[in-house]
Amino acid sequence: MSHPDDYYSLNAEDSDPQRIKKEREKARKLRKSQWWLTQVNRGICHYCEKKFKVSQLTMDHVVPLARGGTSAPGNIVPACKDCNRDKKLETPAERLLKELAEERKRASSVDDESEDA
Ligand SMILES: [Zn+2]
Repeated sequence: MSHPDDYYSLNAEDSDPQRIKKEREKARKLRKSQWWLTQVNRGICHYCEKKFKVSQLTMDHVVPLARGGTSAPGNIVPACKDCNRDKKLETPAERLLKELAEERKRASSVDDESEDA
């Protein structure tokens, strides 16, 4: 595991268009790499964890380039088109907060089904 700081930064200068252009370039090269082929050949979407054909998977930046993400393998995952589209510019932290909110909503609606695990 690489340290998250390797590909995730909150510095304002990270949204610099020059940097994003460079990172896009890197992503393009990475798309042809053996590493990426291994990822897509597994055929699993990083977000919904369903199986897809290689042709249905897209390259997705976990932390969007515009939010300070880079084109490092730790920040690039295969995503199905639906998940990639749904994600837009959210960072993992924002997704997590949303998921927690939904979790809480679900939990309050099943109060009578308490189970001891
Ligand atoms: Zn998916």
